Amino acid sequence: NSVKVMEEMNTLLLANKLDKEVQIVKTGCFGLCAEGPIVVVYPEGAMYTRVEVSDVKEIVEEHLLKGRIVKRLLAGEKEAEDISKSLEGVDFFKRQTRIALRNCGLINPENIDEYIAFDGYKALEKVLTEMKPEEVIDVMKQSGLRGRGGAGFPTGLKWSFAAQQVNDVKYVCCNADEGDPGAFMDRSVLEGDPHSLIEAMAIAGYAIGSSQGFVYVRAEYPIAVKRLQIAIEQAKEYGLLGDNILGTGFKFDLEIRLGAGAFVCGEETALMTSIEGHRGEPRPRPPFPAVKGLWQKPSILNNVETYANIPVIILKGAEWFSSIGTEKSKGTKVFAIGGKINNTGLVEVPMGTTLREVVYDIGGGIPKGKKFKAAQMGGPSGGCVPAEHLDIPIDYDSLLSIGAMMGSGGLIVMDEDTCMVDIAKFFLEFTVDESCGKCPPCRIGTKRMLEILTRITEGKGEEGDIEKLEELAKNIKTAALCGLGQTAPNPILSTIRYFRDEYEAHIKDKK
Ligand code: SF4
Repeated sequence: NSVKVMEEMNTLLLANKLDKEVQIVKTGCFGLCAEGPIVVVYPEGAMYTRVEVSDVKEIVEEHLLKGRIVKRLLAGEKEAEDISKSLEGVDFFKRQTRIALRNCGLINPENIDEYIAFDGYKALEKVLTEMKPEEVIDVMKQSGLRGRGGAGFPTGLKWSFAAQQVNDVKYVCCNADEGDPGAFMDRSVLEGDPHSLIEAMAIAGYAIGSSQGFVYVRAEYPIAVKRLQIAIEQAKEYGLLGDNILGTGFKFDLEIRLGAGAFVCGEETALMTSIEGHRGEPRPRPPFPAVKGLWQKPSILNNVETYANIPVIILKGAEWFSSIGTEKSKGTKVFAIGGKINNTGLVEVPMGTTLREVVYDIGGGIPKGKKFKAAQMGGPSGGCVPAEHLDIPIDYDSLLSIGAMMGSGGLIVMDEDTCMVDIAKFFLEFTVDESCGKCPPCRIGTKRMLEILTRITEGKGEEGDIEKLEELAKNIKTAALCGLGQTAPNPILSTIRYFRDEYEAHIKDKK
């Protein structure tokens, strides 16, 4: 639909002789998916939501020709009269702090000049001309940035391990293989602001002493792949990738590798094995990738969102970044909010924001006035957060303390009608499908758990099934080789912890 809206806009601008005066910019996602397609008219910043082809005539003739903002209903607003508010006036946006998503919805991702106009590549220039590699790593350490892909490992520390290795060949890798059901944070950055990733990876290359990077991106993201490819070519043309970046003698190149959609390839050693051209199976650690990673060379791997923060941290400083968030979780986190919520979409909030604020103030609450029951955070590796913890600050440690986890940022909201046993089964089916089969605890153990869950949901559950699930979960978590298996039981454990009565009701009532 957005393509048709754009075509109509082009036609009408031409017909009204506005084509020289008004520029149409095709941006990445604004984040407010529930209200798309979205058109924002600058300089007013007036946002039109759910735009149909039939609406374009009015926007062109009233707003662009006569300067009168067309009255339309904005997300979260009750009265059409309130429509003249600017983008910043909308609750969905005004409660966010956009660092990783700073350019998404703002610039044309296929035009490097627009990225440069918003301070793009200034951070790369700064590190290459003013900073030593160890100073860059120090800034990363002081900023407190932790990996946004799930584990939350401190980025600066990871870089320092790779930097300490003495080796002529090192690699910088990016995990853009986002596989959690309902998660699309990385996709949005790739589609809306691919140069921020390129710039950050070049900075990482300089910091650890690497001249080659790889972006591992799932092939199911064709627009992201295309825009990243265009961005890499433009960066090469501008001398921002290649043999002699900005005339400083620093060399760094970037290649894309396509993943075939295996969830396990989000695990760092499996991802590297896949880049090497083998079946994407995890390898035992140690050795860790910082010592022996891609092709046995020292390598770092960060995900797209982590990288997207880095140019801003370099330009604004570690102190600025670490002033946002909580004591142990600095900066912001992007969440893909979906499920039973009014404003589905992508939000970026400071760490420490409560789940209630995300669900009600930004997400607009639950449709049809229903009650919030729980939110599944962290996808199939995470756990559910029940209503009693709505006021918990969202940060790495608080979530772990209640049996959930940050994960990569998938946030699926469930209302009072949701059966939590079904939810647990859904996520376990996913991990059973995605298990690579290399180690028995995960290959066999998760299947046994799924059999038990299936018989419970089919009304054939038996006394003692819940305890069997708990025991299997404990063993799989301890014995599985990689993160996929180690975290696969989490959705079951957290739903048993908070909604044991639902499991018992299924078993007792045989339904
Ligand atoms: Fe493969 Fe599962 Fe073992 Fe990981 S835990 S290596 S996904 S079988």
